Amino acid sequence: MIPKLEVTGVSYSYHSLDGETLALSDISFSVDPGEFVAIVGPSGCGKSTLLSLISGLIRPEKGEIRIDGIPLGESSPAIGYMLQKDHLFEWRTILANVSLGLEIRRQLDDSSRARLEEMLAAYGLKGFEKSKPSELSGGMRQRAALIRTLALKPDLLLLDEPFSALDYQTRLAVCDDISSILRSTGKTAVLVTHDLSEAISAADRVIVLSARPGQIKAVLSITFPEDCVSPLARRNCPEFSNYFNSVWKELRTYD
Ligand code: ADP
Ligand code: MG
Repeated sequence: MIPKLEVTGVSYSYHSLDGETLALSDISFSVDPGEFVAIVGPSGCGKSTLLSLISGLIRPEKGEIRIDGIPLGESSPAIGYMLQKDHLFEWRTILANVSLGLEIRRQLDDSSRARLEEMLAAYGLKGFEKSKPSELSGGMRQRAALIRTLALKPDLLLLDEPFSALDYQTRLAVCDDISSILRSTGKTAVLVTHDLSEAISAADRVIVLSARPGQIKAVLSITFPEDCVSPLARRNCPEFSNYFNSVWKELRTYD
């Protein structure tokens, strides 16, 4: 099977007047189609840089990134990028916000509009089509941002701390919602977070990065029994604390 995403020997430095900052050093991993991988690591270790590299916004200094076996840049694979801030436009209605990507790509027609309506209903936003973002809760706004991203039918979703602006309870609920949406649609996802519990509750695999320059310290496969699939169910499973301790140990050891 060709991996959805292959990162091989990737390094990246930022250059400024003060000199060079090595952000990532020799990162290699791959993600299978339909897999949900979480990347955890201390603040400033290069997590956002890694997602910017995968999205093609910046280019690796060393190494290579392939999507569906094709080097990044040679194709235009459908990548969805979701950030901590929802970036909804306050002057647009929710419907106008979720249609924005399609509008820009000139793909807004009757069938894509019907699909948006379906997603709004499925993700609990029916009746809010004409509302402005300020009338919605943080969790609803984040779901609207997800619909806007999914509307473009991305094969690969990059999520950069998408829940961290939400209060704790909302964050648990939205993480649960969004994970089940992604799993039910079979999307491949890379979630970056500094929250270990979030990573363990959502992912099939957790990649632990060291402090800057980010290097891969450990990769842990996460498996839960059949009846503990959703992030909320996983948090109540006895295995959860074992995984938490393993990841915590990896993060705490400095070498
Ligand atoms: P994380 O998302 O894990 O918190 P980032 O990928 O944002 O980390 O940043 C990694 C490192 O690179 C940080 O130490 C940061 O100071 C540095 N960095 C990030 N962006 C820039 C930039 N535009 N110019 C210079 N240094 C940067
Ligand atoms: Mg970041």
